[in-house]
Amino acid sequence: MSQKFDWMVVGAGPAGIAAVGKLLDAGVPPKQIGWIDPHFEVGDLGRKWHSVSSNTQVDLFNRFLLGCKAFGYAKRPKQFPIDQINPKETCQLKYIAEPLQWITDHFRKTVSTFQDTAMALNLRDNFWEVKTNSSPVYAKNVILAMGCDEKSLSYPGVEVIPIATALDYEKLKHVVSKDDTVGVFGASHSAVLILADLEKLKVKSIINFYRAPHSYAIDLGDWILFDNTGLKGAAAKWAKKNLDGAQPPYLKRVLSSDHTFEESLALCNKVIYAVGFERRKLPVLEQYEAMHYNDKTGIIAPGLFGLGIAFPQGKYDPLMNLEHRVGLWKFMDYLNDVLPIWLKYSN
Ligand SMILES: Cc1cc2nc3c(=O)[nH]c(=O)nc-3n(C[C@H](O)[C@H](O)[C@H](O)COP(=O)(O)OP(=O)(O)OC[C@H]3O[C@@H](n4cnc5c(N)ncnc54)[C@H](O)[C@@H]3O)c2cc1C
Repeated sequence: MSQKFDWMVVGAGPAGIAAVGKLLDAGVPPKQIGWIDPHFEVGDLGRKWHSVSSNTQVDLFNRFLLGCKAFGYAKRPKQFPIDQINPKETCQLKYIAEPLQWITDHFRKTVSTFQDTAMALNLRDNFWEVKTNSSPVYAKNVILAMGCDEKSLSYPGVEVIPIATALDYEKLKHVVSKDDTVGVFGASHSAVLILADLEKLKVKSIINFYRAPHSYAIDLGDWILFDNTGLKGAAAKWAKKNLDGAQPPYLKRVLSSDHTFEESLALCNKVIYAVGFERRKLPVLEQYEAMHYNDKTGIIAPGLFGLGIAFPQGKYDPLMNLEHRVGLWKFMDYLNDVLPIWLKYSN
């Protein structure tokens, strides 16, 4: 017999964990919640970005952990290493992945989980059919929290270091040598962390290809200018000194539209593409191919909602810059606003 739920959450990264937790907080019975992910290992945060230095302070991770009653974090039976870190500091992402894995494990004992991939979605008779690699499951409402894949470029004739390797110092040091000229594409937080690590590894030279100047996040007291796109913490400090300040002799910056681009690229024997992320799609696109979503409510279709890095909230800052809010605490803050809408908008 096919299984039917009121709610199905697709993805068990931080956004999926928040969605399950907030549904439970809203009084949805655990047996009415289905949860599907091929891994249940805290998404990309837990599987790929363990040793990446966070761009947010520990304080915001604590707010995320304590922001949902069902997480049970206030009454946790054990301490986690993140509890010992100064809330005003940043940390490696493994410190937040650890308590999130603990929450995932205890949720898996209460809600119905499917260690599988959602392959396609179709709406029939007010139920979403979620096709998987085994039997389909049905739900009145589906929350997509499937995360993003890294974008890439494809310049020929040059060895590519994958971004997940480049963002892990221990891995990066095994794939570069002192004879390498490494091209790094991008100007984001990730690109700057990689540039700083290449400097530490003393490669022969580094060329940073960029399309636009980076911005810095500025704390203005009750709000942060360029909170989602600007450089923060260690990355900001490094960029101010080495990119916008006096560039060291082994580091060159080249605009991707500059006439010297081709010749500069020809000098590189290795490249790293840190050029952003794009929404992950269901493997088989059937009814809802386009997946347009409303970035103020997260609504994609009746009973179909999007959350997390793949469907971020669009919000205007006090100076009317439109920011797409990405970060654990921001997902929860957004969910606090939109879940009451989703509960009413549901099938
Ligand atoms: C390098 C980097 C550093 C970051 N640093 C910070 C930071 O310091 N602080 C902060 O707050 N945020 C940070 N973020 C942003 C953001 O919080 C994380 O990217 C976060 O992991 C996004 O969570 P998510 O749940 O949306 O996606 P993910 O963590 O990617 O999780 C998606 C999940 O969906 C599953 N999935 C995908 N497709 C399917 C399918 N078809 N069926 C079933 N399951 C599926 C995947 O297996 C995965 O488990 C960072 C992001 C990056 C990339």
